[in-house]
Amino acid sequence: MPKVTIDKDKCIGCGACEAICSDIFKMEDDKAVVTKEEVDDPKCAKEAADLCPVDAIIIE
Ligand code: SF4
Repeated sequence: MPKVTIDKDKCIGCGACEAICSDIFKMEDDKAVVTKEEVDDPKCAKEAADLCPVDAIIIE
């Protein structure tokens, strides 16, 4: 099962990932956090990773 993590040092808190994929990402203290690390369908997480301006979203 794919695992989603965020590199907090890279995240600039733009909010794009939450806007695209609120099922998995939410904003907390101006940084994005992952609400579910293991996701069945990583499609929207992948979209968020593509759109993240600093490539802070890691899917493995
Ligand atoms: S899209 Fe990237 S930079 Fe923006 S809040 Fe999400 S992880 Fe952070």
